[in-house]
Amino acid sequence: MIYRQYGKTGKKVSLLGMGGNRFNSNEYNTVNGFDKCSELIVAAFENGINYFDTAPLYCEGKSEEIFGAAFKKIKGNFYVSTKTMVTMDPKADDVRRRIELSLKKLNVDKIAFYHMWGILNIDQYLQIIKPGGPYEGALKAKNEGLIEHICFSTHCSGDEIERIVQEGYFDGITLGYNAINFKFREKGLQAAVKAGLGIVTMNPLGGGVIPQNAERFAFIKENDSQTIAQAALLFNASQNGITVVLSGISNEKELQEDLECFKEESTMSQDRVDKIKIKIDNSFDTLCNGCNYCKGCPKKIETNKLMLAYNQYILCNNNEEVLRDYLKNVWNILPDDKFDCIDCKKCEAKCTQHIQITSRINEINKIADRYIEKYKKKLDACFKINDDIKIGIYAAGPYAEHMLKLYEEIYGKPHFSVSFFDSDSRKWGKEFYYQGTIINPPDKIEELGIDRIIIASEAHYDEIYESLKYLEDRGIEILGFGGQE
Ligand code: SF4
Ligand code: SF4
Repeated sequence: MIYRQYGKTGKKVSLLGMGGNRFNSNEYNTVNGFDKCSELIVAAFENGINYFDTAPLYCEGKSEEIFGAAFKKIKGNFYVSTKTMVTMDPKADDVRRRIELSLKKLNVDKIAFYHMWGILNIDQYLQIIKPGGPYEGALKAKNEGLIEHICFSTHCSGDEIERIVQEGYFDGITLGYNAINFKFREKGLQAAVKAGLGIVTMNPLGGGVIPQNAERFAFIKENDSQTIAQAALLFNASQNGITVVLSGISNEKELQEDLECFKEESTMSQDRVDKIKIKIDNSFDTLCNGCNYCKGCPKKIETNKLMLAYNQYILCNNNEEVLRDYLKNVWNILPDDKFDCIDCKKCEAKCTQHIQITSRINEINKIADRYIEKYKKKLDACFKINDDIKIGIYAAGPYAEHMLKLYEEIYGKPHFSVSFFDSDSRKWGKEFYYQGTIINPPDKIEELGIDRIIIASEAHYDEIYESLKYLEDRGIEILGFGGQE
């Protein structure tokens, strides 16, 4: 195993880091399977990996516990990274609580690398560092010895990362970096190298797109015995300045495959990496490389972000789900967001890859239209209102906001009022964005005379329905507006 210094922290970490978001749900939800996952972590440690990355929501909230079970068995030094997200823990005290919970689940006394998780843009960064915000909470915990280094993980562009790095709040960065998007992040990566930060790269396989398009990416392989996944890991690992390459390892076979790449003799020369970068640029003339020369749209459309998302669409055989997921998860752009392009073609004139940006934006808008059409049916079912009916929405989260925004987009301002419910006691009594109404505890559903509850959740519909189904016997209708059909 190759080890590198993590920035200026004095910590020597393994170049291959184990990402904790790929354990198999069929396994970790059973007692034996849970043990098998934790044994995999022990095996990774025994093979030289000492950097472990997890987060409170990974693997349905089980990832930290799996690592905690493994850490009980590990004898020796290791470093754990976990996270807090500003949308989940907006205040200093929230972060403090989150750290205590993570320490307990992880079975450790302190967390080596604590991340402000998934910063999407400068607004979120400013929310993090403002007085009373998450950074302040993390700093307090650091002074108390509960965490050692405050870092951030991000999907921001190179320019935005450069600003965050230069303002100097963080000891390290975790960023998505791979053979598809390296150009988009290069400026940020170089700024982090210059500032002496520890640099962890995640998503080296481009969300699976690189192995799924093995033939197209075959030229990044050094020889026929190498797999495309190994070549993609090496592309990251061989670059100066990168401290850790995270790989989401889910079984022993993957562990052994990954370990193969991290022997001293395996890494590529910088010269070869540079040649591959040039070849990637030349080979994918229909793909956006994220260079951002197209910026400056009069309608403020972030064309580089849309075109990077469109890459995934092309590489996954025009799969609309992939495009929508990427827009939502990486850029926080909702699947029904549309773009008011006036076809001035200023962006196209500057595009280094000569991409027909306007026709791709047009296609993204059409996909949004199809999405809206699909959800219209669900909205019609949920809000088929007669004036006397009282509607409750559960849970009061981003999905509820999304649902109401969709309603407004399709039908205009609603003429009815709704009440919001949530099981999270920290939300009770707080205003929710819609009509200034407040969030209520679930036991108020009957008291408020609600006739119909709409479950607004993509991931937790079954769980919420189970907790509310007793209301059906009391004459309250329950409908869903989530991922379920
Ligand atoms: S063509 Fe559309 S996206 Fe490009 S600069 Fe003009 S308005 Fe912006
Ligand atoms: S100029 Fe072209 S290649 Fe560069 S980010 Fe914009 S769309 Fe992508």
